[in-house]
Amino acid sequence: MASVITLDGPGGAGKGTISQIIAATLGWHLLDSGALYRLTALAAERHQVAFDDEAELANIARQLDVAFLPGAENEPVRVMLEGEEVSQAIRTEACGNNASKVAALTAVRDALLQRQRDFNQAPGVVADGRDMGTVVFTDAPLKIYLTASAEERATRRVKQLQAAGIDAKFQAILSEIQSRDGRDMNRAVAPLKPADDAIMLDTTEMTIPEVVTYILDQAKA
Ligand code: C5P
Repeated sequence: MASVITLDGPGGAGKGTISQIIAATLGWHLLDSGALYRLTALAAERHQVAFDDEAELANIARQLDVAFLPGAENEPVRVMLEGEEVSQAIRTEACGNNASKVAALTAVRDALLQRQRDFNQAPGVVADGRDMGTVVFTDAPLKIYLTASAEERATRRVKQLQAAGIDAKFQAILSEIQSRDGRDMNRAVAPLKPADDAIMLDTTEMTIPEVVTYILDQAKA
């Protein structure tokens, strides 16, 4: 069985939920790489570092004081920044947008690279992100690229945010998703694209259990 499964794709394609279920089912580690970019953006904001100050942002990324604590049963991981819980604070669309700004900077990506690779520990890791298969774990035996239409992703994001008690409007979320897609796909460094050896999976018409079953079957194959 594979020891690394990479799940890449645009925001809202279901990677987070699906990675969590697969990691829990297999008893593997989970790397939520987007959280590291979100945490870098949040730490930068809190330390009043401008989103175009590449050297200082890279310092922030290198020195990130973060912890991922196991949540209660069936609850997501708790994310801590400098000792304070920020699980909700990093999930806002504004933080996602700021994350995609800092993620476009080479020095920031370099600063986070080893931290991501360190998650590759026995028995295995499920790595969720944009460049897991193309940059971070190029040798992964199983690479999945998840997509869904922008409208479907916006609908899912609205439901997810509302469930977390965050007010969300469809049109605003859709345009944020589209502008974030544009930035992630067109940036010079590690642009969002499928690895040559990735399996493409369009989840627009699929349920979460269907996607999970498909990926677990591929992992066993
Ligand atoms: O996946 P998530 O929405 O949490 O990611 C937030 C942002 O971080 C993305 O829009 C993307 O710009 C950036 N990111 C990245 N590479 C990753 C994971 C996330 O550039 N591996």
